Amino acid sequence: MMAAPAASSRPRVPLMDLTAMHDDVRLGLDDVWHAALEGSAFIGGEEVAVFETAWAGYCNRAHCVGVGNGTDAIALTLRALGIGPGDEVIVPANTFIATAEAILIAGADPRFVDVDPDTHLVSAATILPEIGPRTKAVIVVFLHGNIPDMAELSDLAKQAELPLIVDAAQAHGSMWRGRPAGSFGVAGCFSFYPGKNLGAFGDAGAVVTDDAELAARVRSIANHGRAPDSANVHEYVGVNSRLDAIQAGVLSVKLSLLQRWDTQRRLAAAKYDAALSPVLDQLTPLHIPEEVVPSYHHYVVRTPQREYVRAALAAEGIETSVHYPIPCHFQVPYRPFATRPLPVSERAAGEILSLPMFPHISDDQIGFVSTALAKSLNRTAGIRG
Ligand SMILES: *Cc1c(COP(=O)(O)O)cnc(C)c1O
Repeated sequence: MMAAPAASSRPRVPLMDLTAMHDDVRLGLDDVWHAALEGSAFIGGEEVAVFETAWAGYCNRAHCVGVGNGTDAIALTLRALGIGPGDEVIVPANTFIATAEAILIAGADPRFVDVDPDTHLVSAATILPEIGPRTKAVIVVFLHGNIPDMAELSDLAKQAELPLIVDAAQAHGSMWRGRPAGSFGVAGCFSFYPGKNLGAFGDAGAVVTDDAELAARVRSIANHGRAPDSANVHEYVGVNSRLDAIQAGVLSVKLSLLQRWDTQRRLAAAKYDAALSPVLDQLTPLHIPEEVVPSYHHYVVRTPQREYVRAALAAEGIETSVHYPIPCHFQVPYRPFATRPLPVSERAAGEILSLPMFPHISDDQIGFVSTALAKSLNRTAGIRG
């Protein structure tokens, strides 16, 4: 048996715990601090170039541009594609707000679309009816680290002559038919926010692409619109969204362990799957297509009794979350872009529950969460009937 829950606010099982990851990389990080002190290159420079090359390689791409964060990665990609005021960009309604926010930052309008009821990801069926004369791009989000049918979506983008941009902020290490998440579409956009599967020690992001011109434009806009070989010639009204050397150094060190950490997450997910199999009549996991090796950024289950179950888990000291409880088109600043009901996204928001998931979650913790979850579901079954 595990100890009784402490009176402190610290959960017995946290949603995520990054400290054990730091222990895995402590020695390498010491070198990063040392190099930063010795080198005095803080923005850009060798460390950034080294990480960009490594991340491009990891994503099977010709180019990687380090930027300030994941939101900027998307907004800069849109701007670099010439998308702005008057244009519409297709985006799922059930994503982190930043995906839609980036469209507005670029000056364009989000066109919210619904998602597949089994995966909660966009599909050709949900996108096709929404393409109109103002549509200039489609953003596909690899939510929770799961990936939709990219053959179907690539065909659709090709036929509609629309660039497909991937928001892969939750999919570091995810694969589809053996291809890395960052390899799809005209560009893959990443966040390295500390809580992501590959996280910096602050804000950071990247755009990966095979298009040299697109990469150069992103790099220029992210660096005050500077011309490629000049410190003083500014070709665009840009922004300041660069990757700094310390974050790049941290990311290079952590990248060497990403595959191991993602494997640990997959093992944890498999243990949840097994432990929860007796209650699958009351709990629907999100469907992971056969072609996908997911990153399990989140481990998500669905139950109509979500609020009851969540409170029961909290009472046991188990921290959970909901990604995301309010669909983007219901958020006040985005309501003007809510053109019609999006029933799957709206229903999903009330049923999804993210269980504790991180690389070093223990078997005891998974067992404790699964038992508490099954118990609370059985209680709700009793109540209902
Ligand atoms: C984290 C995240 C972003 C934004 O990244 P930031 O680095 O926080 O700007 C965008 N999209 C999704 C799906 C995310 O999870």
